[in-house]
Amino acid sequence: MQIRCECGQLRAEIKHFPSEMPGRLACYCDDCQTYLMHIKRTDLFVDGAGGTEIVPIYPCNLSFSSGTERLTCLRLSPQGIFRWSANCCNTPIANVQPGFPWIGVFARPYVVEDKHRLDNTFGPIRSGIMGKFARGQKPEGVADKLDFKAFRSTFPFLLKGFLLRKAKGSPFFHGDGKTPIAEPIVLKKELREKLRADLSKIERHSRVHSPSTIS
Ligand SMILES: [Zn+2]
Ligand SMILES: [Zn+2]
Repeated sequence: MQIRCECGQLRAEIKHFPSEMPGRLACYCDDCQTYLMHIKRTDLFVDGAGGTEIVPIYPCNLSFSSGTERLTCLRLSPQGIFRWSANCCNTPIANVQPGFPWIGVFARPYVVEDKHRLDNTFGPIRSGIMGKFARGQKPEGVADKLDFKAFRSTFPFLLKGFLLRKAKGSPFFHGDGKTPIAEPIVLKKELREKLRADLSKIERHSRVHSPSTIS
């Protein structure tokens, strides 16, 4: 499957979707919200409660075919995960951690060409987590933090990923598996706090309801 940024300069190929893959997940945590706020893409929240949708894959199954020079990396803090976007058209691409058999690919790169692709390929969003940070009322079916449903859908994938060393060959890191291919920008604490404060000010959708796709 091909994925791409909105303008098409950055393109990647996903070679394989393992049967254990968790499918579509929505995270409502304050860090994911702060990140989309920082890159000014709060239009990509899946709902008025501020959910960010990802579809995780194994690092070894992703390769870029063009545009890697467009990738920029942001960390919300010195310990934060590596959040990548394409600077040509400001498309969020993926969240990664070195050595971790997981690339959380944002929903947007999957659906630039076909907006129904995620529904048609993976079905509905399978679980929602970190609902205690949801904007306004927490959507129905979303866990406060992590719940058994989220654990059940991600644990087999992670276990197999660690056992079979699926973090190896991540295209976001050099051969040593830990040096990112672009120097990360680390957000200053004051800016992070300002973004969080601004988040609470941006207009909430008047009706907060669960994404109809959460099963
Ligand atoms: Zn682009
Ligand atoms: Zn999150």
